[in-house]
Formats: sequence, C-alpha cells, structure tokens
Amino acid sequence: MAWRSHGQTNDELVDNLKAHNIIQHDEVEKAMKLVDRGLYTPHNQYMDAPQSIGYGATISAPHMHAYALELLHEQLKSGGKVLDVGSGSGYLSACFAMMVGEKGKVIGIEHVPNLVTQSIKNIEKHAPELIASGRVKISVGDGRKGYEPEAPYNAIHVGAAAEQGVPDELIKQLAPGGRMVIPVGNKLGMQALEQIDKLLDGQIVRQSLMDVMYVPLTDKDSQYTKWRRKIFKVKDL
Ligand code: SAH
Repeated sequence: MAWRSHGQTNDELVDNLKAHNIIQHDEVEKAMKLVDRGLYTPHNQYMDAPQSIGYGATISAPHMHAYALELLHEQLKSGGKVLDVGSGSGYLSACFAMMVGEKGKVIGIEHVPNLVTQSIKNIEKHAPELIASGRVKISVGDGRKGYEPEAPYNAIHVGAAAEQGVPDELIKQLAPGGRMVIPVGNKLGMQALEQIDKLLDGQIVRQSLMDVMYVPLTDKDSQYTKWRRKIFKVKDL
C-alpha cells in the first residue's frame, strides 16, 4: 500500500514498507536501513510522501524509492554500474551504492548545481567513503543526455518525468541485460512508470507499470522559472 508506510524513525518507515509488501527483497531492506532518509531532507523525514528540497525539486516518496530499488534489484548486484538521472537529494544514489557494493559504481546526474553540492554533503554525513573512493560520483549536467564516459549501465533510474518520450541516449547507454525505470508522460497527472529492458540480443522491451506523479525532466531554466514564480508569486520572471 503506497502512501501509508509512515514511521517515527527510519527503521520504522522501512519496516512498514516491508509490512505493506512494497519492499520484498532483503537487499532492498538492508540498503534502505543503511541510508537514513532523515539525513536527506529536513522536513517530515519519515512520512511516506515526497518533500520539497527547493529549486522545484522533491525527494521522492519512500514507497517510490522502494519500488525503484525493487524493480532494479536484479541489476543492482555486486559490481553493477548505475546511472541515477535527476539525483536530487542523493538518497537513491546512496541506496544504489549500498546494493552494488565496493566493486560497483553509481553516477548521479543533476542539473541544479546547489542540489549536487547538497546531495554530496548528505551522503558524506553517513558514508563519506562512497564519495572519497569515487564509488558515487554526482555531477552537474543534463540527464537527458545520460553520461557517456561511464556507459554502459546495468541500471538506469530516472527521477523526473520524460514529457517528450524516453531519451534515445539513455536507451543507448543501457547495457545488454540492463533495465531502466523511468516515468514517462506530461505533467497533468498523466504519467506512467515504465520499465525498459535491453535484452542480451539488444532487443528493447517496454512495459508500463503504474500511474505516477513526478516533477518534469526538463531544462534548468524552465524548472527555475516555474519555481521562482511559485515561491515569489510573480507572474513574469
Ligand atoms: N530521486 C531524487 C528525485 C529528485 S526530483 C530524490 O528522490 O531525491 C527530480 C530531480 O530531477 C530534481 O532534482 C530536478 O532538478 C532533476 N532534473 C529535472 N530535469 C533534469 C535534467 N534534464 N537533467 C538533470 N536533472 C534533472
């Protein structure tokens, strides 16, 4: 049951996600217990709902984080390589790193520079070795282009909704046997979470899983403009 797994502590939140069958694998439970959501957002840390982290971005709801980790768990084995597009608070990048272990690597791409800085600080609060060793690398960039220098990726997670369809570049950067989880659709509540598999022979298999609501995968200026309009209640900026 989505939206209903609130807790008083991180452990309680994760236990409730498990009790509601959203978390099904021990590896996912372990990763979410190792990464305390309280270190990634100052507000309502253990509520099962998205929270604003500024700049028009949110840290996604815990149940959406759990779904993403579950959908990708086969690709998040030891040594796996992961691309986290729209890495925001850095929470999921840290969970991915816990799952792929010391031999794995996580690349986060986020287009708001302040969020990149904050996400690195968030991870350093509890696992500075992830940043120092380069097992997690978060860079400023347009995630629609992926991150070619480290491709291909076993898992690609996109944390913002692709309004114009799935970027070709991301499909190209998926490894054979790899899986991408991406919300697709426009902002009017018509988004679906898609699972895109690249089979070993290169064939692409797409599946629409559930209706979701994510902030748009867009260009930085339009995200900022919308955000400033909302915060300052100004029509023309
Ligand atoms: N998984 C993140 C989700 C953050 S919300 C978390 O739970 O913390 C989605 C993020 O995508 C925002 O931080 C937003 O700034 C970012 N984003 C939107 N469009 C983008 C783009 N084209 N390139 C990179 N990041 C983008």
